[in-house]
Amino acid sequence: MEEIDLLVIGGGTGGYTAAIRAAQLGLTAAIVEADKVGGTCLHRGCIPTKTWLHSAEVLTRTRNAATFGVQVDEASLDYPVMRARQQAVVDTLHKSIRSVIGKHKIEIIEGRGTIVAPGEVAIGERRIQAKHIVVATGSRPKGLPGLEPDGDRVVTSDELLERDQAPKSIAIIGGGAIGCEFASFFADIGSEVTLIEALPTLVPLEDGDAGKALAKAFAARGVNVMTSARVLTDRTRSYDSVVEVTVEHEGDEKQLPAEILLLAVGREAVTDGLGLENTKAEIEGGWVKVDETYRTAEPSVYAIGDAIGGLLLAHVAGAEGFIAAEAIAGKEARRLDYDRVPRVTYSNPQVAAVGLTLAEAKERGLNAKSQRFSLKYNAMALIQDETDGFAKVVFDQDGGDLLGVHLVGAHVADIVSEAALGRFLQASAWEMGTSIHPHPSLSEVLGEAAQLSAGISIYW
Ligand code: NAD
Repeated sequence: MEEIDLLVIGGGTGGYTAAIRAAQLGLTAAIVEADKVGGTCLHRGCIPTKTWLHSAEVLTRTRNAATFGVQVDEASLDYPVMRARQQAVVDTLHKSIRSVIGKHKIEIIEGRGTIVAPGEVAIGERRIQAKHIVVATGSRPKGLPGLEPDGDRVVTSDELLERDQAPKSIAIIGGGAIGCEFASFFADIGSEVTLIEALPTLVPLEDGDAGKALAKAFAARGVNVMTSARVLTDRTRSYDSVVEVTVEHEGDEKQLPAEILLLAVGREAVTDGLGLENTKAEIEGGWVKVDETYRTAEPSVYAIGDAIGGLLLAHVAGAEGFIAAEAIAGKEARRLDYDRVPRVTYSNPQVAAVGLTLAEAKERGLNAKSQRFSLKYNAMALIQDETDGFAKVVFDQDGGDLLGVHLVGAHVADIVSEAALGRFLQASAWEMGTSIHPHPSLSEVLGEAAQLSAGISIYW
């Protein structure tokens, strides 16, 4: 039987990061991958969707060109060209990650890995003895009980990305990151969009004001946003050319016909066929249970990324893979502070955040205070004619540290890293407000909000 130090099952962002870091630390590592390295993020998630959203942004900007004194003929979206470009972007990144993996002498074993015993993995006929295993099998979209995707009228994001033309109308169940990004995209390219969310605000894990601002911006672009809405799955039917969703909203029952129904109600871990039952590793609430260094109850088996739940984000999976590899290599393992992780919904406008909301800080018993600064007063936002949005900062009044930052606006994803660094370095309001921000720039909104918190704003 072949012997190896580390076998990673699943070659997404978390999996390849773990394998590369392990190889850098002198371990022999291989990746088992049933599809393509790069995983959900590269092939069915972050990269394709952001490429589409960028096309929608270019379209919107072109349509608004006259505002900037630029005259263009009527703009329209060529869907197949957009999809071909998306594939070209994905292919470039795929080639590049394969090359990095190859450079580190990490074999990519094609197939499904099954743990037959601790330290032993079967891939078809092949058997590999691995001192350590990292489970990085990721997640897949969830259905709703009584309303499973059929891949045609009722789809998940996976199937939606495969369609070669835009639907005239789309109903979306779930106002989280996936629902909001697709709602934004389809609204901008001219589809009729209904967005149905069970909780009172969109992106409900984010600051309440952010969800409300997003709903307002969507409504202004004609999206039918229904929050606190209940989908009656037993009264939702799909026909040949239409799907009819029945929703209870504001005391009324409404029937909403649409060409396509997108289920964006969360994701679940992929663990079937993995053979975890042949180890002591446990599953809790559907996710693989791990300690702070991502070790399962089976000492030689680790798990990272979407498979362990929490924040299902590629950059989180990568950080977890890095830490797990260091722990396996015997280095003193760092702990990942999830309050330092930036989160971005790439809708128009974008919602970006790091750390705690004011309400969360208060729940933790902290003496927290927040300040908000509008993009209306930001010169760059005015120059770009994108003044909808704000920065909200939350500081601890006792220790002085930054606790959280919540941003809404076009391109705020580009400035959230400053907030993440501020949180990492435990910046105070005075430090963030006194650090010089270039003028004119979107980032000034962070400086202004921090200055307000520190009582050194020249404006108020
Ligand atoms: P999510 O958990 O973020 O949001 C699902 C939403 O659906 C929730 O707001 C929930 O209240 C709502 N919901 C659930 N059942 C419902 C029902 N019956 N009727 C109406 N609403 C219902 O899940 P998602 O948007 O599917 O995304 C999956 C994961 O992928 C998330 O963890 C997300 O963070 C991640 N993701 C991140 C990004 C990004 O970072 N830009 C993009 C896409 C996905």
